[in-house]
Amino acid sequence: MGDVLYCNAPNCGAPLLNDAWATTCKHVFCLKHGTEHFHNKRPQSDCPVCDETLVRGRDVKLASSNVNRLCLAGLRPEKILSLLEFNMKLWKQQLDTQRTVDSARIQNLTKEVQETEEKYKRIFKAKEEFLDRQIATLESKCRRLALKLNQKTREIELKNKSMKEETMATYEARQYSPVPSRRSTSTSSLFNLDFLNLDLDSGSFEFDTNLP
Ligand SMILES: [Zn+2]
Ligand SMILES: [Zn+2]
Repeated sequence: MGDVLYCNAPNCGAPLLNDAWATTCKHVFCLKHGTEHFHNKRPQSDCPVCDETLVRGRDVKLASSNVNRLCLAGLRPEKILSLLEFNMKLWKQQLDTQRTVDSARIQNLTKEVQETEEKYKRIFKAKEEFLDRQIATLESKCRRLALKLNQKTREIELKNKSMKEETMATYEARQYSPVPSRRSTSTSSLFNLDFLNLDLDSGSFEFDTNLP
């Protein structure tokens, strides 16, 4: 709180840097709220904080921060001491009030932090669960695709095998067929498989580029 008092009006709390209103119930108000509440023609008003009845001109005072040091001049020492005691009590009460306000504020902030933390925990958990579900779906899709790929690979292998067998059968049939009289004719060379380099293991074949 430092060296400054704060307006006690509900929802105000403005620092009292210059003129301010003070009451005998030891509450203080900024110029705006004190004037609104006490600067009227009614002989008495209730304190907006503690509801104590305050008589105008006796229990409420507009105090200036520019207090003339001669304002206590001429007062009896016991009166001055009594004024000092009252003002010290007022200061202490204001410290206590401010401490209560600060402590409530800290409690509210702590609660807010906890709530925010809980909220983000919930959000993260929901996100995590969502991502877990996505991962599970993708994994299952991958498994299905892997199965399909295996199946297709088997089908291709079977097809390759059958093609290889067919090629072999054709090759053998040509080997044992009667030799054409003119081997060098273009027609016979088309059916002569000597120029094919057959790879029987892989089922593939390629042209022999070193043909005569
Ligand atoms: Zn105020
Ligand atoms: Zn009061």
